[in-house]
Amino acid sequence: MQEYDYIIAGGGSAGCIVASRLSEDSRNRVLLIESGRRDTDKYIHIPATFFKVLEKGRDAVFYASEPEKGLNGRSSIVPQGHVLGGGSSVNAMVYIRGSRQDYDTWAQLGCRNWSYDKVLPVFRDLENNQRLSGEYHGVSGELTVSDRAFGHPLCWAFIRAAQETGIPYNEDFNGRRQEGVGFYQTTTRSGRRRSSAGAFLRQAERRDNLTVRTGSRVHKILFEGKRATGVRLEDGSTVNARREVILTAGALATPKILQLSGIGPAAHLRDHGIDCVVDLPGVGENYQDHLEATVQCETRDPISMFGEDKGLRAVSHMMQYVLTRTGLLTSTVVEAGGFVDTARTGEPDVQFHVLPIFTGFADRLADAGHGISINPCVLRPQSRGSVRLRSSNPADTALFIANSLAEQADVDTLVRGVQIALRISEAPSLARLVKRRVLPKPGIEKDMDALGEYVRSISKTVFHPSGTAKMGASSDPMAVVSEDLRVHGVQGLRVADASIMPRLVSGNTNAPTMMIGERAARFILEQSSSAIAN
Ligand SMILES: Cc1cc2nc3c(=O)[nH]c(=O)nc-3n(C[C@H](O)[C@H](O)[C@H](O)COP(=O)(O)OP(=O)(O)OC[C@H]3O[C@@H](n4cnc5c(N)ncnc54)[C@H](O)[C@@H]3O)c2cc1C
Repeated sequence: MQEYDYIIAGGGSAGCIVASRLSEDSRNRVLLIESGRRDTDKYIHIPATFFKVLEKGRDAVFYASEPEKGLNGRSSIVPQGHVLGGGSSVNAMVYIRGSRQDYDTWAQLGCRNWSYDKVLPVFRDLENNQRLSGEYHGVSGELTVSDRAFGHPLCWAFIRAAQETGIPYNEDFNGRRQEGVGFYQTTTRSGRRRSSAGAFLRQAERRDNLTVRTGSRVHKILFEGKRATGVRLEDGSTVNARREVILTAGALATPKILQLSGIGPAAHLRDHGIDCVVDLPGVGENYQDHLEATVQCETRDPISMFGEDKGLRAVSHMMQYVLTRTGLLTSTVVEAGGFVDTARTGEPDVQFHVLPIFTGFADRLADAGHGISINPCVLRPQSRGSVRLRSSNPADTALFIANSLAEQADVDTLVRGVQIALRISEAPSLARLVKRRVLPKPGIEKDMDALGEYVRSISKTVFHPSGTAKMGASSDPMAVVSEDLRVHGVQGLRVADASIMPRLVSGNTNAPTMMIGERAARFILEQSSSAIAN
């Protein structure tokens, strides 16, 4: 029988940090189990080629929701990293934490220990910011955060054009004020991706007390009574956990593992013949994601990214990158963007991701030719979905109901975002580069119904699934984990990934999830040392 003190299921943004921190104490024997392979694909590490990792598909899985009424019958197709580093190895590297109000709302929802003032020092501790320091930024953490090393002319033009419409310039979206436009800071270091695996795990793996097992899938958590005692793997073998199992498989996989293990809505588990360990109706509920629409314009000249960069040019970009770590390949593609308060509530409700190319997605090919995409996303969606079991067979995909744009308020927010993006595209600095608008088709700018229909027909995920094992007090019947991330009603089991967000943060979710992983490790270490002291 294999035995460890701690077993961490899922080697993604959060899991790599938890494994690294717990193994700092040489007395802890730690096992990290990751279902994907090691992060050896070179396209993972070159910023501008991250989308090739998704195209190749080997290091990502694509979850498809049931057909969604809010998306005019389309599925929400949500890719997730399936490789060491998880999402942090395949994402667009945008470094955003969310707003002060996000975390203060978590506190108001019953998670008092997660207010902005409580989480800010943790963000700072993790961070090694190459430009910013002081109240909001750290400079000695493992996670390098850098400015763009490459700025595409279309991204510069977007930033100027947005200012021409009255949106302020912002040089730090993670500082005092989120609102405004600018270049994103990125989780990169010296022109290479800085994933959770690279920043936290690589060094830790030298320790004798940490074992990282890739290509191995956790099927369920094992219990003796109400105490988690280990995990069962896909090959049927089991591994014991002397102290704790920490679930970090991401917001789509974590609720499935919990339910297969007997933790979830009792009636649902009964329907699938699974013995209920604890009846937690919130497991798999409260699913949230950021959805984005798009405004796309064709440029007069052939200037968009990659368009003319084939053959010899591609070779010269690669040579420049290899020799000097500069140039086009250091671009994260999603270079620029911003946050806008479209409803004038005092808090931005739309984020823009701007790409100097035409963008498509899983269910829609990008237009051929040269263009820019300005993609507004709804920051605090009101729609909620769910992840439930289809059967008790772990090999079956989960029943995923995203409920994207189920709430009209989310569509209305996106429509306002599209209208602002249209205004930006017509402001002088962009207008002089644009030949014609491609999406949405001209003529519907003022027709709210047509714009709403457009939003439903085109919107797609921004890849931020979360909320499916939400944190909250035990008095909240839908809460799955406590403020210190222990699963309610059992011992020896925590969840520490994007699932625990009670409400999706207003921005990209990689940094917030790393913060969650770091806090989980701190809770575990503090509680185990006070248990020893007592
Ligand atoms: C394409 C894409 C682009 C994105 N762009 C950005 C961005 O620019 N900026 C940003 O901040 N955020 C971005 N995100 C979101 C961000 O990366 C995620 O929110 C974050 O990685 C979630 O972290 P996690 O630890 O919850 O899960 P993950 O990082 O997904 O980790 C879960 C890990 O568990 C593994 N796993 C799953 N099931 C099992 C099992 N049964 N047994 C063992 N292992 C298992 C998975 O393979 C995965 O490695 C993006 C995400 C994607 C997919």
